[in-house]
Amino acid sequence: MIHQNNPTPDNQGTAQTPHGISNNRGIPETPQIAETTGVIPDPTVGRWQHREKPAATADPTAAAAPPCPTAAPTAPCPATDLAPAPSTHPTPPLLRAICDVCPRHCRLAPGQRGACFVRSCHDDGLIHCDTYGVSSGFAIDPIEKKPLNHFLPGSTALSFGTAGCNSACRFCQNWELSAARSWARLGSHASPADIASAAASRGARSVAFTYNDPIVFAEYAIDTADACRERGVHPVAVTAGYMAERAATDFYAHMDAANIDLKGFDESFYRRVTGTRLGDVLRTIEIACAAPGCWVELTTLLIPGFNDDDAQLHAECAWIRDHVGRDVPLHFSAFHPDFRMMDVPPTPPDTLTRARRIAISEGLRFVYTGNVRDAEGSTTFCPACGEALVVRDWFRVTLDRLSGGGIHGILHDSTAVQYARCPSCGEAIPGVWR
Ligand code: SF4
Repeated sequence: MIHQNNPTPDNQGTAQTPHGISNNRGIPETPQIAETTGVIPDPTVGRWQHREKPAATADPTAAAAPPCPTAAPTAPCPATDLAPAPSTHPTPPLLRAICDVCPRHCRLAPGQRGACFVRSCHDDGLIHCDTYGVSSGFAIDPIEKKPLNHFLPGSTALSFGTAGCNSACRFCQNWELSAARSWARLGSHASPADIASAAASRGARSVAFTYNDPIVFAEYAIDTADACRERGVHPVAVTAGYMAERAATDFYAHMDAANIDLKGFDESFYRRVTGTRLGDVLRTIEIACAAPGCWVELTTLLIPGFNDDDAQLHAECAWIRDHVGRDVPLHFSAFHPDFRMMDVPPTPPDTLTRARRIAISEGLRFVYTGNVRDAEGSTTFCPACGEALVVRDWFRVTLDRLSGGGIHGILHDSTAVQYARCPSCGEAIPGVWR
């Protein structure tokens, strides 16, 4: 049984009201522990982890050695040449488990927690996802709030999150969940099948993993995504994209859509303000955009004086155009003071307009503004003839000329992404429209 809570801020920082909270592939290098040990994991066992190697100075045969013969009570221990004395035999060095979900690669001994707080090493020596099956609450949101503007416009999503995060954004607008260091906010127990069923019964066409970054509960998100697909409900990820390559490849293969933060285009800014690395996020964006059947949109929260200068915006938009394509929608959203950045002013609307113009000048075809009331910045225009195709008022769709009457088809063979044609000029508008 799941209970719908009051709407919780989206983790990207998209505001529902002017004062609301803003939204803001690969060969495995190391086998999973579960595979190497033959253990059949319970659902909470981390699917991306490996055991650390013994120190280089250690005798390489020691680690693979069979148990000490002192197990046979009559044999002396060859290592010590002493009479059987199990309690004094040197204990093999403790090898920790290494989490391979995100680039932090936390090395954890039993009892230790990762930097995200919600993944820990248990007594079995394996890293578990401790928030599997528990949630901070559920809400029904318009899909535009994620934000996704080219994915089933006007539909609703059942949104949920857990706790913890692998980023450390100083401006986090969901910090009560992302920075949680207790389970106090996790009150709802729900299996993947429960969530899919709840979404379907409420008429939600999607389930959105949001509020905190689904990367830290990736096993729960993937199982829920599979359950959703079985019910005809679309799984959607809202994420900062700070993920290791193999995990990202696995994760996006299960998603139908994603909104990924591209928080800026300066490595120094990323390290200082988010505690993560731009290069890793860019790689995740490339992986997500290449994942068959996953529609991707990007969001940049513009923070005055930090990531809003012309040069950085030109560089970001040029990268998007050159690496994942000009059809990937980009959302510029407005910052408002929160968490550890209370001393930074809100983003002026003019900044969003300037950023949008720069993006269009760099060749991006679908650029939006968010967290402000901006008729032009919230409308989907035909990039060929300029016709308004989907008009929005905040998160409400007031005109949709694509979902109903457009000509639909498959954009290209390797993806389920559709296109709809502009009714005025026939231009193909990519997205998932019905
Ligand atoms: S997901 Fe958590 S435990 Fe795993 S590497 Fe990242 S911060 Fe560490």
